[in-house]
Amino acid sequence: MFDKILIANRGEIALRVIRACREMGIKSVAVHSTADADAMHVRMADESVCIGPPSGAQSYLSIPAIISACEITGAQAVHPGYGFLSENANFVQIIEDHGLTFIGPSAQDIRTMGDKITAKETAQRLGIPVVPGSEGGVPDVESARKAAADMGYPVIIKATAGGGGRGMKVATSAADIDVAFSTARSEAKAAFGNDEVYMEKYLQKPRHIEVQVFGDGKGNGVHLAERDCSLQRRHQKVFEEAPGPCISPEERARIGKICADAVGEMGYSGAGTVEFLYEDGEFFFIEMNTRLQVEHPVTEAIFGVDLVREQIRVAAGQPLSFTQDDLVINGHSIEVRINAEKLPNFSPCPGKITAYHAPGGLGVRMDSALYDGYSIPPYYDSLIGKLIVHGRDRPEALARLSRALGELIVDGIDTTVPLFHALLAEPDVQSGDYGIHWLERWLEENLGG
Ligand code: ADP
Repeated sequence: MFDKILIANRGEIALRVIRACREMGIKSVAVHSTADADAMHVRMADESVCIGPPSGAQSYLSIPAIISACEITGAQAVHPGYGFLSENANFVQIIEDHGLTFIGPSAQDIRTMGDKITAKETAQRLGIPVVPGSEGGVPDVESARKAAADMGYPVIIKATAGGGGRGMKVATSAADIDVAFSTARSEAKAAFGNDEVYMEKYLQKPRHIEVQVFGDGKGNGVHLAERDCSLQRRHQKVFEEAPGPCISPEERARIGKICADAVGEMGYSGAGTVEFLYEDGEFFFIEMNTRLQVEHPVTEAIFGVDLVREQIRVAAGQPLSFTQDDLVINGHSIEVRINAEKLPNFSPCPGKITAYHAPGGLGVRMDSALYDGYSIPPYYDSLIGKLIVHGRDRPEALARLSRALGELIVDGIDTTVPLFHALLAEPDVQSGDYGIHWLERWLEENLGG
């Protein structure tokens, strides 16, 4: 086992990894930009190293600075968290070239899944059902028109290098395709430096269902059921739960086994998530994320396992601490993402926290790096906390969420908490009756944007 792990991230996820390290008797090293000198992850880690100025590109994304921090502190392994360098195959390669261990899958698996066209081809080869769409990339608008006519409108044009819901455009009819194609391409170029796009049939009322998988790197894979992340704004998740309210035990076992077998066959190492759109009882693969997800705590809650601990164990060459048969679902869990954003436009709202009180009590977990007097810097993602609740069933989890949101105090800035209070009052949210487009429509009707 490692003696010391460096966490190449910030915020709540850095704390999450530090906590797992401490329970395992492993020393932790935080890295930080000059803007984060007073951040909670720096205070909580055993050691810390400043790796650059505020801009993410010059600090949390600076591979040379992170490698130097490992060398200075003697860290043997790097946990990337999510975002930043977590799905950067080049980073993994450089870490390994320096004799260090990356806590995550191989550079090869990250590369395969990072390119969405290769990912879809790989999924298909492994027996995973995919969304009907173009064969590979769509090079020009002529090909886009033809592909759309073949599969039938509406279609969605997506960036091959995509992520975070960017570079995606829907065309509802032939009249839209030229504009949708050129906008998707230029957005993809701006966001990812790669303008390749592909096309899929645009599903009109799917749910977003994702299967948590784990590979031991030795040919064995397990699944930890699914999460439903259908409540999304601009293709980004805001409310996640496990298990999926509309998935039957038989469907869970069937899709779970397909995914577990696939990661076993890949020889995949560590945590991963296989994402699907689910419509009329059918699953359609959209992508695989080769890292820990923001919403992993809902899975931890229903299985009572520590996924970060498992990631560290697998990276150190140890077996998983559970088998498929050990994994039995207990109750229901929901997470809401609390962002420093001002409604109704969700404009970023960084600033000084004048008072902070985290909710507590049975079945409540608050993952956050906030503290009284902390100043949220304007340079990074607006996620400031995740409130996770666990109950014996979905109604109990919903009631607990409402109660816990009521206890939470974050003064000094605007947050997305009022959105969740309003959503919990909706009959559709109470009954779990929504697809991925539900929230956009609700926002338009209720917040006018
Ligand atoms: P990203 O990597 O940017 O998150 P994904 O491929 O995971 O992109 O898609 C993100 C979200 O976009 C999905 O959860 C869904 O809401 C929407 N989406 C993607 N593909 C389709 C599709 N074929 N039909 C309808 N919605 C889609």
